[in-house]
Amino acid sequence: MNQHLLDKQPVADQPTPMIDPFGRQITYLRVSVTDRCDFRCTYCMAENMTFLPKRDLLTLEELERLCNAFIDKGVRKLRLTGGEPLMRKNVMQLIRNLGKRIGEGALDELTLTTNGSQLARFADDLHAAGVRRINVSLDTLDPQKFREITRWGDFHKVMAGLEAARKAGLKVKLNAVALAGFNEHEIPELLRFAHDNGMDLTLIEAMPLGEVDTDRSSQYLPLSKVRRDLEENFTLTDIPMTTGGPARFVTVAETGGKLGFITPLSHNFCASCNRVRLTCTGMLYLCLGHDDNADFRKVLRDNPDDDAVLHRAIDSAIARKPEEHNFELDETHSRVAVARHMSMTGG
Ligand code: SAM
Ligand code: SF4
Repeated sequence: MNQHLLDKQPVADQPTPMIDPFGRQITYLRVSVTDRCDFRCTYCMAENMTFLPKRDLLTLEELERLCNAFIDKGVRKLRLTGGEPLMRKNVMQLIRNLGKRIGEGALDELTLTTNGSQLARFADDLHAAGVRRINVSLDTLDPQKFREITRWGDFHKVMAGLEAARKAGLKVKLNAVALAGFNEHEIPELLRFAHDNGMDLTLIEAMPLGEVDTDRSSQYLPLSKVRRDLEENFTLTDIPMTTGGPARFVTVAETGGKLGFITPLSHNFCASCNRVRLTCTGMLYLCLGHDDNADFRKVLRDNPDDDAVLHRAIDSAIARKPEEHNFELDETHSRVAVARHMSMTGG
């Protein structure tokens, strides 16, 4: 046998890349490290949320083992989210250990989606752990309205968090959910604020995920309308940048920054989907728009020392990834499309 053929022989138990039945390679894992949060954003949670019992959560060690198994199987980008990821006790231990995989060349990026409330405390540690970019959710620049939408949040704490992130050298992207009758007219101001401070902005279309106690149909604001309105004052130019997800980007001539539009209910990104989502209880969701999942908590606990079993369980889960999501909605986007809250799967 010549050397070329020998090179192609599979090595026993060497983790193989994750390719789903539609030929898509999975390189991006989003992990919800907790379902808890110090805010109660009206579109995300009911005020009186029942959280999971602590015993149902994966320990930080279990989360780390599972994330490492995914990295060994070809995940290059890992995003920690929640709930509020920085509210999970000792989360920095997990972040530091995962950050080491960047140093080894096994991972390209470790990042976070956060509400910013704890950033003043954690920004330096995040940078030291290898995090370079984070997403911070911010729906309004009005402290009063901020309290209204988050119910429990303190706007000034988030501003202090953004400043700490800047000082620590973390690149920030702001995420804002576009909400009719709430921040519709504030979007130009949010755009200028972001771009004036060296941050990109991404707008998210509100999705009917999980029961909340507000009327979703009155909140729904299509981003197609937001874009039309913005174009009255800004020159938006589509750019081919893609994250393999539902975000589409434009440059804004007047500010020189980038603006993203996330319309998760459209189907036009499914063909290039590169991601799967893990909950804090170890359920792997193959698609944001499907309830089908694979239970990794059981696999982890039944096989504490055998990563080969874990790798095989990942392969059989990826083999079930659906071709596209099946959100079914009425035109007002008010019905719950998927029963779980965004804080379960982390968006
Ligand atoms: N707590 C962190 C935060 O707020 O950034 C991370 C978790 S949060 C679930 C992630 C993102 O999902 C946030 O940007 C939030 O605004 C968004 N989100 C939550 N519920 C949503 C919904 N029903 N529709 C659209 N976006 C939603
Ligand atoms: Fe918490 Fe984020 Fe949900 Fe707001 S959007 S309630 S900050 S998890």
